[in-house]
Amino acid sequence: MGTIVAISTAMGNGGIGIIRMSGKESFKILEKIFKPKNKRFDDIKGYNIKFGYIVNPDTDEIIDEVLVSFFKSPKSYTTEDMCEINSHGGIVVQKMILEQCLKSGADIAEPGEFTKRAFLNGRIDLSQAESVIDLINSRTEKEAKASVNQLQGWLSKKIEEIRKYLLDIMSDIEATIDYPEYDIEEVTNVRAIKQLQIVLEKLDILERSFESGKILKEGIKTIIIGKPNAGKSSLLNLILNEERAIVSDIAGTTRDTIEEYINLKGIPLKLIDTAGIRETNDKIEEIGVNKSIDLINNADLIISIFDNSRELEKEDYQILDMIKDKKSIIVLNKIDLGKHVLEREEEILNLNIPIVKMSAKIGDGIQSLYENIINIFNMGEIELDNSMVITNTRHKNQIKKAKVHIKKAIDTINECLPIDIIGIYIKEALMELGLITGQNVSEDIINEIFSKFCLGK
Ligand code: GDP
Repeated sequence: MGTIVAISTAMGNGGIGIIRMSGKESFKILEKIFKPKNKRFDDIKGYNIKFGYIVNPDTDEIIDEVLVSFFKSPKSYTTEDMCEINSHGGIVVQKMILEQCLKSGADIAEPGEFTKRAFLNGRIDLSQAESVIDLINSRTEKEAKASVNQLQGWLSKKIEEIRKYLLDIMSDIEATIDYPEYDIEEVTNVRAIKQLQIVLEKLDILERSFESGKILKEGIKTIIIGKPNAGKSSLLNLILNEERAIVSDIAGTTRDTIEEYINLKGIPLKLIDTAGIRETNDKIEEIGVNKSIDLINNADLIISIFDNSRELEKEDYQILDMIKDKKSIIVLNKIDLGKHVLEREEEILNLNIPIVKMSAKIGDGIQSLYENIINIFNMGEIELDNSMVITNTRHKNQIKKAKVHIKKAIDTINECLPIDIIGIYIKEALMELGLITGQNVSEDIINEIFSKFCLGK
């Protein structure tokens, strides 16, 4: 592996910038361009920070005053010799330093290449490497916490524990096959089925944790629906103004919708603004309804808003029909008008969906709306358990695949099929689980994973 270099801090002007270099030649390259103050380069030891100047070796011209940290192999992020040049944080000066590193023999790093090396050199496993990018991209503290736990090896340990169970079963099975004269197949089968059930249960728990993990990561996809003038925009604005911790505004993938994130007690709520639906609705009823149905089906939570000062109308009935089996909250809006027409409405009460009476205009009742959201998603539970969640779809899919093989192994025993067939399924399950931590993982998968990283990480 060659020596790589990249600007690791975000593009833009800041207090300091970090140019990072890793590989066998790091120190040699650095020696050409770094002049430590009051010290000879040779005297510098690892795990040291030195003050000095980055110069253009051809002209001796000073490019910047810098601090350089030295990390000697194997105790570094990548396990290779590494250095980090802390320069002033201007984009031009960082680029000039990068240029000198390249000129002196380093190659520009690919996105995620430092972390990829940490994985390829065996310092961290694949699931830990993936948690680095999750940590960087975290939108809430809870998600960051889940990612840092994964970086510490929580998931790796779990997977290893499960793999060990399977390996134990495997060795029992192999012994039975190798020594048929002892006639222990029956005993092995009984034991194997018990162990396999335990493994299945453990995998189930992990797979289920993905749901909480997904919420931590992607947010609760929430849509506000209601007939025109029910108060959708007012409610959306109220929530956005109330919760100042807006994490980001990103244009939605659907042309007519906008997504905004708010942080509700550490849980991201992804609010999908359905303004577009209304417009389409006015033009062609059909398209509007189809679109709402699509959004409703994809949402994790539907806030349906009704004007409490008016009797139900045709569109209200349509909405009530659409939400009846969904995770939903009914908002009876405009209580400030004093006409509480819908509060005894059987069509609403019979649905057994939480009801919040509020005024989107003056803000009354908003806390009750939040409490209901928290209750619906059992966020207390997530909070207690948030160190133990899977947040990565790839990991969940591997667990799912492993489960299929374990189930087949159990079926094989139940159907009294030859014992070596059980072994085949267990091996498959071991392989699928191994891919989570990166055992025997293909280069394509590795490249795909690291291509999502940022430069310099
Ligand atoms: P949308 O069409 O569903 O988005 O409804 P808007 O949020 O645009 O509200 C329609 C009208 O109802 C506006 O004039 C709002 O000011 C008014 N409105 C919304 N919520 C309330 C409320 O809680 N009380 C009162 N009195 N008026 C409201």
